[in-house]
Amino acid sequence: MVEATQQSGVGMIEGLDLDSPIAGAKPTTSLMRRRSPLSSPQAQLDRLESLDLAHTPQASDFLERLASAGWETLRPAKLEIFQINVGKLCNMACRHCHVDAGPDRHEMMDRDTIDACLQALDQTEAHTVDITGGAPELNPHFRYLVDQCVSRGKQVIDRCNLTVLLLPPMQDLPEWLAERGVEVVCSLPHYRKFNTDAQRGEGTFEKSIEAMRRLNAVGYGKGDPQRRLTLMSNPVGAFLASGQSKMEQEWQAGLMKNFGVSFDRLITLNNMPISRFLEWLEQSGNLQTYMELLVRSFNPATVSGLMCRNTLSVSWDGRLFDCDFNQMLDLEIQQPTGATGATGATGERPHVRDFNPKLLAQRHIVTARHCFGCTAGAGSSCGGAIEQ
Ligand code: SF4
Ligand code: SF4
Repeated sequence: MVEATQQSGVGMIEGLDLDSPIAGAKPTTSLMRRRSPLSSPQAQLDRLESLDLAHTPQASDFLERLASAGWETLRPAKLEIFQINVGKLCNMACRHCHVDAGPDRHEMMDRDTIDACLQALDQTEAHTVDITGGAPELNPHFRYLVDQCVSRGKQVIDRCNLTVLLLPPMQDLPEWLAERGVEVVCSLPHYRKFNTDAQRGEGTFEKSIEAMRRLNAVGYGKGDPQRRLTLMSNPVGAFLASGQSKMEQEWQAGLMKNFGVSFDRLITLNNMPISRFLEWLEQSGNLQTYMELLVRSFNPATVSGLMCRNTLSVSWDGRLFDCDFNQMLDLEIQQPTGATGATGATGERPHVRDFNPKLLAQRHIVTARHCFGCTAGAGSSCGGAIEQ
């Protein structure tokens, strides 16, 4: 069992300082650590709203854009995926991170909140539990949560950064996950070293390949549905993800030929203009053009498949959100008008311990300008491109 503790504000696991380069590359530090103004979610929202997008040919108000595509309102469909963000602690500090995760972020879901999540899960028909972070494996209750979900017959996803699997307390984790049939969804910006290290830091690519080898060795990435290894890629720059299926073939061939490693599928995601990617856009002078690109690339065919329609997101402290991006922007779910009682009382902050699936099904999804990141091009969600 991994024990994560705090020491001088820095994450430690079993004597290993997560802040050290050995634990993982850190091309930057968290906005929070730097006391950047953009560490405030409201400041991020204000920055996006302050952009003048009036000259883009289409409406730059997301709700107006939805309405023009025939969606007068954005409402949830059937809840299929219960996503739990178990904390912001991470052994890395990538430039594009939308969570502002890092070794200095000690926000971590505790056991009581995990149990409240499980009780909420039992009230739903969600078939999948998607466990994310930070590096979710660093939460000391990660294995408990996985076991509980598996025993309930749920499909479980571990959103893994690959390098975490090389930490000494994680040596047994690939086999442990394989025994439970957990799908491992691993972030890797590119199948070439240069692009990956540019975004995630020097040495990340080699560590990622070594972690893939360990996953392959226990049966992941070889076509077994009980050992599914998914790679997740996002563009290294201010452009949209593209051509998921074509990229998948290219990556499979490239990784096998050059490194002898395999995976089952590739999903591509657009970078959301929030948190550290927002900072990067601003510093590199790309913010205005990237937002224009997102607005111009609005694709009405992606709306029905937006992840906020079939997913609910729970934060480390048990609050409820329409998606992980809204969670990072502190845009909590909206209570249905006039609702009272659990998760409905006026002024009450929606919390997983008050979970009420009927009320949640009636809500309107909270949107803002960042949502254009999900509807641009082929669309983008935690499951990859929306339009295949
Ligand atoms: S992008 Fe992933 S691996 Fe990188 S700092 Fe954020 S949570 Fe950690
Ligand atoms: S960010 Fe994307 S998933 Fe989240 S509410 Fe907006 S459109 Fe939906």
